[in-house]
Amino acid sequence: MTPAPQPSPSRSPRPPLNRGLAEFGTTIFAEMSALATTTGAVNLGQGFPDTDGPEEVREAAVRAIRDGRGNQYPPGPGVPELRAAVADHQRRFHGLTWDPDTEVLVTTGATEAIAAALLGLLEPGDEVVALEPYYDSYAACIAMAGGRRVPVTLRPHTGPDGDRFVLDLDELRAAVTDRTRLILLNTPHNPTGTVLTRAELTAIAELAVERDLLVVTDEVYEHLVFDPAGHLPIVALPGMRERTVSISSAGKTFSFTGWKIGWVTAVPALLSAVRAAKQYLTFVSGGPFQYAVAEALRLPDSYFTDLRADLLAKRDLLADGLAKAGFGVFRPQGTYFVTTDVRPLGESDGVAFCRALPERCGVVAIPNAVFYDHRDAGAPFVRFAFCKRTEVLQDAVKRLAAL
Ligand SMILES: *Cc1c(COP(=O)(O)O)cnc(C)c1O
Repeated sequence: MTPAPQPSPSRSPRPPLNRGLAEFGTTIFAEMSALATTTGAVNLGQGFPDTDGPEEVREAAVRAIRDGRGNQYPPGPGVPELRAAVADHQRRFHGLTWDPDTEVLVTTGATEAIAAALLGLLEPGDEVVALEPYYDSYAACIAMAGGRRVPVTLRPHTGPDGDRFVLDLDELRAAVTDRTRLILLNTPHNPTGTVLTRAELTAIAELAVERDLLVVTDEVYEHLVFDPAGHLPIVALPGMRERTVSISSAGKTFSFTGWKIGWVTAVPALLSAVRAAKQYLTFVSGGPFQYAVAEALRLPDSYFTDLRADLLAKRDLLADGLAKAGFGVFRPQGTYFVTTDVRPLGESDGVAFCRALPERCGVVAIPNAVFYDHRDAGAPFVRFAFCKRTEVLQDAVKRLAAL
């Protein structure tokens, strides 16, 4: 037999990335966090808390490991204790009822839930309408599922309650075509801090019903809403139960972003499509952490109100400091991010601004442009995270004042 011809050593191999993923390269978070390390800057870039979640929840994870609960493959849909706790949590905070056996799926963070929902629900060529700027995994996951993303840009708007980013409902309606399969929502919204209003959610729901669309809604910041009215899940609106896939996670609510425990709630027909994809992504998710998160979801109301109060004070500390330093400030209604406009500082390019900021004053932030397809629309905006200790934020504010 003659050996198969070998490719000549001078010829470079085919590019290894497919499905258009090459465009996603390394995330801006890696670049900015590296910059924080080399310059010793205060890192308000990546959105992770600098203190861990409740002691009793950490102890619950340790106990589960010691007691041999979850150390071997847990059940695919999640351990029964966590599925029951998710259902009880949804009833307690939102008045929703889910069957823990057929309507709750535990995932490896919200990130896997988003991936599994898109892979499980999209056909190649389907269009996905997503609010821009969007969380960075959305575009990559839509691409992996063979879908096409159709961004609808949130626009800065000055209203009676200050500056916020708003959804133009006419633009949303115009973005829906016969190829649209689903609307991918995120409220409270990262990076803008916008919380969609009841009127906006109602209009989105009506559109979804009228055009027979699914809604996948990322609600990982459901407990980080500063308006006492709290978070309204779109699934609670008329006609939405049958067409909504709701996603949340323990990372943001309990300050355990490294545990990667998330969950999906949906009617059985939708949930089984998501589960079909999930089982071939990770099969199952972090066993012992599931038992601990089950306990976390049952913490008393005071945990959730204290979390909000703590973050509200931090929001105002950072937002006031940024305003004093000369930024245009969009004081968020939810999440732990504040988006700013650098134009009042005489700047126009947020990417260049963020690359220079550690040198200029020792603070790291993230340029919102990386969350846009229409980069121009996001060019002047820069995001700061305030899920940090008060003294860290005070230090950052002092440094920013030097601008
Ligand atoms: C942090 C974040 C996620 C990821 O959640 P994990 O549970 O850590 O996977 C998803 N969506 C948004 C909008 C986020 O900010």
